[in-house]
Amino acid sequence: MKKLFFTVLCFWAVSLHAQKTYLHCGQIIDVAKGKTLSEKTIVVSGNAIESILNGYVNGAETDTHIDLKKQVVMPGFIDMHVHIEHESNPRTYMNRFTENEADVALGATLYAKRTLMAGFTTVRDLGGSGVNIALRKAIAKGTVMGPRIFTAGKAIGTTGGHADPTNGRSYDLMGDPGPREGVVNSPADARKAVRQRYKDGADVIKSLQQEGCLASQKMVRTHNLPQMNWLL
Ligand SMILES: [Zn+2]
Repeated sequence: MKKLFFTVLCFWAVSLHAQKTYLHCGQIIDVAKGKTLSEKTIVVSGNAIESILNGYVNGAETDTHIDLKKQVVMPGFIDMHVHIEHESNPRTYMNRFTENEADVALGATLYAKRTLMAGFTTVRDLGGSGVNIALRKAIAKGTVMGPRIFTAGKAIGTTGGHADPTNGRSYDLMGDPGPREGVVNSPADARKAVRQRYKDGADVIKSLQQEGCLASQKMVRTHNLPQMNWLL
């Protein structure tokens, strides 16, 4: 009985020592003080920085130690306006007619990884096809590499406005997009569009009031307070 108690006690003691990560940093940038500090150890427990210690400190044998003595370590960048599903390239316009949602989603995994590796750990995605919400979930689950995402899903505007996905198309491809696609023309439409985004899992609402800076065709300008009020 005594032996069993000892074994249980040992197991309890091991499980109490949650594994930590020790980052041995040659230099770290303290953005609060505007200084570069040398020879520091960042101790990470779970998803949080537990402490920053002077010198190179080791934890227990079961902890993870990462050698960054020749590196400069800094907090991640935050970009408040991205469209992570796409990049600008000579095929950007043509892709709208050739890519399906799965193509967009798979391409977005590459852009998400590039964004993270460039140092951006958090981004706000202000409009895409809607697969940006699935991308956010996949990154949060750890199945795709990328920054933490806060996303608007699909942006909202009026018929012929910047959020109308059929702008500039011939009549047979134009259709009549509505609130689900981000096109609203009345308070009732706007409420439906916002509620749909809530249902889809968007974090923020993006309302477009005038032409986009990269637009290839003329668009309706709707920068007026009534439209903004419809969305509230
Ligand atoms: Zn934008």
